[in-house]
Amino acid sequence: MIKYLFSGVLLLGLWVSTALAQSFPEDADFYVNDYADLLTDSQEEDLRIILDELYTQRGIEFTVLTITRMSDYGHTGSIESFATDLFNTWGIGNAERNDGLLLLVSHLDRKLRIEVGAGYGNTLNDPMARVIDTKIVPNFRLDEYADGIRSGVEEVIYQVAGVTPGAYDASPWYQAWIRVGRFLTDLGFLLILPFAAAVPFVVRFIRRIRRNRPRICPNDGAQMRRYLEETEDDSLSPGQLMEEQLESVDYDVWYCNSCDHLTIEGYRAWFSRYGACRECGFRTVEGDSRVVKSATYSSTGLRETDYSCHHCDAQYTITSTIPKRKRSTSSSSSGSRGGGRSSGGGASGNW
Ligand SMILES: [Zn+2]
Ligand SMILES: [Zn+2]
Repeated sequence: MIKYLFSGVLLLGLWVSTALAQSFPEDADFYVNDYADLLTDSQEEDLRIILDELYTQRGIEFTVLTITRMSDYGHTGSIESFATDLFNTWGIGNAERNDGLLLLVSHLDRKLRIEVGAGYGNTLNDPMARVIDTKIVPNFRLDEYADGIRSGVEEVIYQVAGVTPGAYDASPWYQAWIRVGRFLTDLGFLLILPFAAAVPFVVRFIRRIRRNRPRICPNDGAQMRRYLEETEDDSLSPGQLMEEQLESVDYDVWYCNSCDHLTIEGYRAWFSRYGACRECGFRTVEGDSRVVKSATYSSTGLRETDYSCHHCDAQYTITSTIPKRKRSTSSSSSGSRGGGRSSGGGASGNW
């Protein structure tokens, strides 16, 4: 009996010490700590770029953490309690605004959580649940961890900052356009069909009003006319024709009947993957970028983008620097965490 009691106490003691032995993964990097190794170096860099953009533009600290399993850290409870405790131990986000964000993926537990700072209250619980259900879990189920994390992060950024990565400085028009597009997408594909069918007409209508106002010839003050699409091609240069073909720029050609004066007006597309070519200047260049050397805490990294032009056939590579990685627990003030806390808001999912 005494023996059993003794071993019982021993077991209890063991259990208590295991429970007390809960630890947390090392908070080494400010933006991405990929302990489960679900991301390549290059995918990590790409994430750091958009997370750093959010931090620089809006001061919001958003960090991504992947672990193999929670029990590696002595945790046997729920992912919710693990995430909240970890969030508060790391001190994610500004301490006054409490606006930090954590995406935690526990690979072999097949569980994930987006934990949000106390400053958001419960306002983000539903949006984060939607991000998990629509952007992350469908990818995770296909073992597409990098895609799930990337699109989840982008969507969280959109939910908290109202912008898509890279569009912080975009014109209000462009941002409004993104919002409309996203709104329609959110309504669901079938529901948007009638809207989608109407969009080109609406766009054309607005464009027509803007583009149809009468032009006056600068030479003789006569009213100018606009060529039809079919006949304007003779007046456009090969570069302009290529831009029209790639739909990066749309041209109108106005002519004066009395003096043959021509005015060419270009309208840049709202969405186009073509940029301005370094050689010929037309918006006919396409870029493909890759990380050549990942940044470390002590040295910068290198990214190369290969550009090729559809008009002048120019091929060139532009090398850009990837900033050094930020330590989150460094003694230097820049890049160390803000000391924010969470009161358990957010959402969880499994796959
Ligand atoms: Zn004229
Ligand atoms: Zn070119």
